[in-house]
Amino acid sequence: MTIEQPEKRDFIREMIARDLAEGVCKAPITRFPPEPNGYLHIGHAKAICLNFGLAQEYASLGACCHLRFDDTNPSKEDQEYVDSIQEDIHWLGFDWKDQLFFASDMFNFFYECAVQLIRNGLAYVDEQGVDAIRAQRGSIVTPGTESPFRNRPVEENLARFEAMKRGEIPEGNAVLRAKIDMASSNMNMRDPVLYRIVFAEHHNTGAAWRIYPMYDFAHPLEDAFEHITHSLCTLEFENHRPLYDWVIEHCPVPSRPRQTEFSRLNITYTVMSKRKLLQLVQEGYVSGWDDPRMPTISGMRRRGFPAAAIRRFCGMVGITKFNGNTDTALLEHTVRNELNAAAPRRMAVLHPLKLSITNLPEDYREDVEVQINPEQPDCGTRKITLTREVWIEQDDFMIDPPKKFFRLGPGRTVRLRGGYCITCTGYSTDAEGRVTEVQAEAIPGTIGAPAPDGVKCRTAIHWVSVPLGVEAEVRLYDRLFRDEVPDAHEQGFLAALNPASLEVLTHAQVEPALAAAEPEFSCQFERLGYFVADRRDHAPGRPIFNRTIALKDSWAKAK
Ligand code: ATP
Ligand code: MG
Repeated sequence: MTIEQPEKRDFIREMIARDLAEGVCKAPITRFPPEPNGYLHIGHAKAICLNFGLAQEYASLGACCHLRFDDTNPSKEDQEYVDSIQEDIHWLGFDWKDQLFFASDMFNFFYECAVQLIRNGLAYVDEQGVDAIRAQRGSIVTPGTESPFRNRPVEENLARFEAMKRGEIPEGNAVLRAKIDMASSNMNMRDPVLYRIVFAEHHNTGAAWRIYPMYDFAHPLEDAFEHITHSLCTLEFENHRPLYDWVIEHCPVPSRPRQTEFSRLNITYTVMSKRKLLQLVQEGYVSGWDDPRMPTISGMRRRGFPAAAIRRFCGMVGITKFNGNTDTALLEHTVRNELNAAAPRRMAVLHPLKLSITNLPEDYREDVEVQINPEQPDCGTRKITLTREVWIEQDDFMIDPPKKFFRLGPGRTVRLRGGYCITCTGYSTDAEGRVTEVQAEAIPGTIGAPAPDGVKCRTAIHWVSVPLGVEAEVRLYDRLFRDEVPDAHEQGFLAALNPASLEVLTHAQVEPALAAAEPEFSCQFERLGYFVADRRDHAPGRPIFNRTIALKDSWAKAK
C-alpha cells in the first residue's frame, strides 16, 4: 500500500512512520482536545492541521483524528464555544467523522480509576486547605513535606472520596491526591491533585457531579479511553509526561497512549492566550470573537483569509521542538499568494471623485471587457458598463502632479481600465479648493486598442459607473496591535493596541456585481487590495466589504 507523504517530514511524522514499521500500532489515532472555554485561534489551527493532517495522510490504514471536548472545568465552559469549535474545524477543511467525544461523558470512568488508585494505596483524600498543600510542595531545591493525611487507611479514603462525590464536603475543603513522591525532582510528581470539589453547573452533566478531575489526571485517561495511539501536545506539557505515564501505568485503562510534545505557534503583533482574547471581547476592544482583527479562526474567516492559506501557513511553520515567534508577515504573505491566484478582480472606488467624459453623449452606455483574473488567463473576461460619468479614486488625480505621477492631472492621459484612454481637460473645486469634479475627453478608438502615437498613457486606473454604481461600506482593517510582542509591553498588552486598526468608509462606490454578491464573496478590488463581503453584515443590495489585506507585501520586500 502506498501512503501519500506530506511535503515536509518532521520528527513526529518520522516517529509515527517508525511505529508503523515496527508494528507498535496499525494506524495512528490522534485527537484534537480543545477546552470549550473560548473560540479557536491560529495556534489551535497548527494543532488541528497536525492531528487531522496525520489522519488524512494515513487514511488508507484506517487512521483517524477524534474531536474531543476537554470539558472538565464547569465554571468556564459554554455551548457557544462547543458549536463554534466544530464550525471552525469544518471550515478549515477537516472532519472527525463520527469520532466526537466529550470528556464529561467519561466521568464515571475517571471516577472508577480514582477508586482503584485509592484501593491500591496510590491516592488519598487530603483535607488540608489549598494554602497548606501549596506550602508543603517545597521548591525545586527543597523537597516537599508529606501531608498528615497521606497515610490514611484505604477504607477511610474511600469513604471520604465518596463524601466528596456526594457533595457532603464544601468546596476547597478536600482534594484527592496521588501518592507518588513528595521529594521528586519533578514538582508535578509531588502528590499531584487528581480531583477537586466544584459546585458549579456543568453544561453537559448539570449538577450530577460535585467533583471534577484535574487536567493531568483526566487527559491520559481520555486518550486511553478513546484508544488514541499518539497524544500530541505542546511543549509546556513535557514535564507533565512522567505523570501522564504514571496515570496510564496505574489505572485500569483499555489502551496505552503515548504523549509527544511539539512547540506551540506564536505570531508577532498579536496575543494568543484565550484569557486575553476573552478580555478583548468582554471589554469591547473588538466587536466579538470573530472580529476580523482577532487571531481567531472565525475572525480570520470573516477577514477573508482562505482556509487553504491557513493550512499552508501551518505547513510552512512546521512541527519542531523549538519555541519561537513567527512573523505575522509570513501569514499575510501566504494569504496574499493564495488570493492573488484565486480571487477574481472587481472594481470599487474607496474615496470617490466624479469624472465626466464630456465628449460622450449623456446617455452613453457601452459594455467593455476586462480580465477576470490576469493571473489566470483561462478564467477569461467579463463585461462592465462604461458610462459618461464615472467615479475614480481621489488620489488618482492631482491638480499639479510631479513628473513621476503617472495618473491623472490637467492635460494628462490615463486609461479607464477596459475602456477609453481619456485626457483631462479641466476640474472644479469647492470654496476650500478641494476638487469636486474632473472633466476629460475620451480618445476615440482606444477601447481595446493602444493610445495613438505621441500620447503618453502609462496607467490604467479603476473606476465605477456613477449611474450604475452602488454606495457601500468598506471596513479597512489593520493589525490589532502596534507592538511586535504585545505581551512584552510594560503596561500590559492592552497598551499595545493599535488605535488605527479599523477605519470605516461609508461612501465607497462599488460596481453593481459587488452589490449583488453573496456574503463571503472574496475578490481583489483592482489596485486596492483583497476584500470580502462581510459574512455577518453584508446583504445583497446593502454591500459591506472587509479589507482582507492590502496589495503591498512587506514580507516579499523584506526578503
Ligand atoms: P490557551 O492557553 O490559549 O487557553 P489552550 O492550550 O489552553 O490555549 P486548549 O483548548 O486546551 O487551549 O487547546 C487545545 C489544543 O490546541 C491543545 O492540544 C493545545 O496543545 C493546542 N494548542 C493550543 N494553543 C496552541 C498553539 N499556540 N500552538 C499549537 N497548538 C496549540
Ligand atoms: Mg488547555
